[in-house]
Amino acid sequence: MAKTVNHLLYEMEAYARARQVPILTEAARPIFLRAVREAAPCRILELGTAIGYSALLALREAPEAEIVTIERDEATAEAAKAFLRRAGETYAARATILVGAAEELLPTLSGPFDFVFIDAAKSRYPDFWLGVQPLLAARAVVAADNVLFRGLVEGEGSEEWPKHSYRTMVLQLREYLRLVRSAPDFQTEVFPEGDGMAVSRRNP
Ligand code: SAH
Ligand code: MG
Repeated sequence: MAKTVNHLLYEMEAYARARQVPILTEAARPIFLRAVREAAPCRILELGTAIGYSALLALREAPEAEIVTIERDEATAEAAKAFLRRAGETYAARATILVGAAEELLPTLSGPFDFVFIDAAKSRYPDFWLGVQPLLAARAVVAADNVLFRGLVEGEGSEEWPKHSYRTMVLQLREYLRLVRSAPDFQTEVFPEGDGMAVSRRNP
């Protein structure tokens, strides 16, 4: 089965490349996998399933865990369901793919989740951070992808006022980083790999 899943992951990478689906970049994968391992999760929540690539990676890394993952786009969610089915029962049975907007579905979920991966609409990251708070386990790990969005969020290259098409996204990602860094129970590291990943560990 492991061999099958690794083949399937390669196939998904090719599929994503061909259709420009923004799955986890190769550079960000080790950061993501380390965060999953560290959380040693029983339950995972993901916002932004796309084709199910990061969900499948997480399930491979945490063989006892289940995942609830939310995707707004119906056709994309169907593709994810098909890939997960092909991964076999040991994976498919542990995955629940919900179709809808994360901001609408979050209040309907019950926690606790040990690991949360935020990877949906970048301009809603602050809302997602606040929305997942009631769902977090005491020692939850929250990872958020693309927080440095093309280098426009922080550091060199971020001094200019962001151009119109990216402005809301960039300002909201800055707000996300401000929120996680000022949250009293959390310690946050921001990794520059890929498009930037913030890993926030709750340490009550
Ligand atoms: N986590 C995936 C990639 C997700 S790409 C991986 O690494 O493999 C982001 C996805 O979020 C897209 O498929 C997009 O349709 C979805 N999305 C965007 N806004 C959303 C929202 N408000 N609620 C749920 N999904 C959303
Ligand atoms: Mg991403």
